[in-house]
Amino acid sequence: MIIGSHVSFGKNGLLGSVNEALEYGANTFMFYTGAPQNTLRKPIDMKNTQKAWEVMQENNMDIKNIICHAPYIVNLANNLDEKKYDFSIHFLIEEIKRCEMMNISYMVLHPGSSVGIKKEEALDNIVYALNEILKQDKTVTILLETMAGKGTELGSTIEEIKYIIKHIEKKELIGVCLDTCHLNDAGYDMTNFDKYLCLFDREIGLSYIHCIHINDSKNDFSSHKDRHANIGYGTLGFDTILKIVTNPQLATIPKILETPYIGNTDTDKERIYPPYKFEIAMLKNKEFNPDMMRHIRSYYQKSAK
Ligand code: FE
Ligand code: FE
Ligand code: ZN
Repeated sequence: MIIGSHVSFGKNGLLGSVNEALEYGANTFMFYTGAPQNTLRKPIDMKNTQKAWEVMQENNMDIKNIICHAPYIVNLANNLDEKKYDFSIHFLIEEIKRCEMMNISYMVLHPGSSVGIKKEEALDNIVYALNEILKQDKTVTILLETMAGKGTELGSTIEEIKYIIKHIEKKELIGVCLDTCHLNDAGYDMTNFDKYLCLFDREIGLSYIHCIHINDSKNDFSSHKDRHANIGYGTLGFDTILKIVTNPQLATIPKILETPYIGNTDTDKERIYPPYKFEIAMLKNKEFNPDMMRHIRSYYQKSAK
């Protein structure tokens, strides 16, 4: 099973990400090249990157399974503010160059939100922008993430994703990243995941899937909300998620957790702990741990002493 979580990049660059992933017992990971909510980026430190590659090799982590996520404020769907639209295109061209420098093959992207323009126009804006970005790209595949359909978000239906892919010139550099929380919130039944894959295969093709975000959902089926829950603590439940991560059709696809950190309820409320070490263990052991929250708190409180 190729499984990991999103990890930070921060001041240490890729090496920090690798080390964090190893702490969680992961064999892959996903990172943002800076803060996900802004587009301020530092140049890639190649010395640090080189060291990261070495540590990955020593630990049997395949660089092909490592995923970069574009910042979520970039919106390729709306061009009412032409400057902003151009900035988004140029930012992603630079982001791809950063991925290339680190030998990263996949970048996940939220397709965008139409905000104030027609859906059809917005989809064509995404297509135009992606074709511009991919013109200069040779090695990085952009993965369109399946969205929950919150607000005017695009990419929450198979039809929208299909439309975008259909109009991309360099098909070899476009793909899809599924997100189990988003799919549930968008109205695709995750308790019948094979049915979804069958539909996806017929409309788009399974070979386009290169990543899957594994999240439970805090909201009901078809709620169009997008709030992630810890594995087994939401609407999907542990058994549904376990079936998805062990699905033989996705055996070689990296699985990335984006579940929320755990709050420390007893002492200082500011401290929060990453759940990934424990969620990865549960999925590897194929067994739900109803006491997970308590185990996470005691593990991190002990290691803080
Ligand atoms: Fe995302
Ligand atoms: Fe996601
Ligand atoms: Zn989400």
